[in-house]
Amino acid sequence: MKAGIISDIHGNLEALRAVERELDELGVDEIWCLGDIVGYGPNPNECVTKVQEMCRQRSGELIIVLGNHDEACIGGDISFFNPRAQAAALWTRSELSEENQEFLRSLPLVLERSDALLVHASPHEPEVWHYIMGIHDAAYAFGHFSHRVCFVGHSHYPLVAELEGTVIHLVEGEEVEFQAESRYLVNVGSVGQPRDRDPRACFVTYEPEKDLVTFCRAEYDVVACQEKILNAGLPAMLAERLEIGF
Ligand code: ZN
Repeated sequence: MKAGIISDIHGNLEALRAVERELDELGVDEIWCLGDIVGYGPNPNECVTKVQEMCRQRSGELIIVLGNHDEACIGGDISFFNPRAQAAALWTRSELSEENQEFLRSLPLVLERSDALLVHASPHEPEVWHYIMGIHDAAYAFGHFSHRVCFVGHSHYPLVAELEGTVIHLVEGEEVEFQAESRYLVNVGSVGQPRDRDPRACFVTYEPEKDLVTFCRAEYDVVACQEKILNAGLPAMLAERLEIGF
């Protein structure tokens, strides 16, 4: 079985379509989505529909968890968002169809898939949306799940932490092969707004039988998405950051 794991699409339909093409070529059997389908980007409705379609076409199941921007765009608290995120959340609220709002409301915070835990931000208090930015956050997170691997998004920054006995270290590289005795925390990066200085859409594939996680990048039409952001009257910085991947 090969799963494609996507997160933080943020209404960027161009990036999502490019990732879908890559996932087709890679022949994934299932698609898992770690949330933040909407917020920031200009195509929230199209992305909500497209993610469901992508999941249904493969496994028939909707393996999708709620993200903090999804929650914000269906009436969640946005008082702690920065002004750009607030503006985008308010715009997205006014754009989202009733049906798509209903769908986002139905999403769980956490899902389990064989030996994996899926959550948007952190296995510790998933509803509080803690960030896992490095080894110390990862160390704390390992105490809050017992699965072989926990997949997260939220920071838009790809990361793999390995717990080997009592020692935690970060694992570099495009392909990460799981060691038999270790447990893992994997941040799958962001499809629609990468922040690791690589503007290409980021996602991973996971093959449990091979114990293998592979990081993938997809080029997409950044300019087309930028134009839509500006035409929608969304903050210009949300368009600018896409071309530098930050
Ligand atoms: Zn996000």
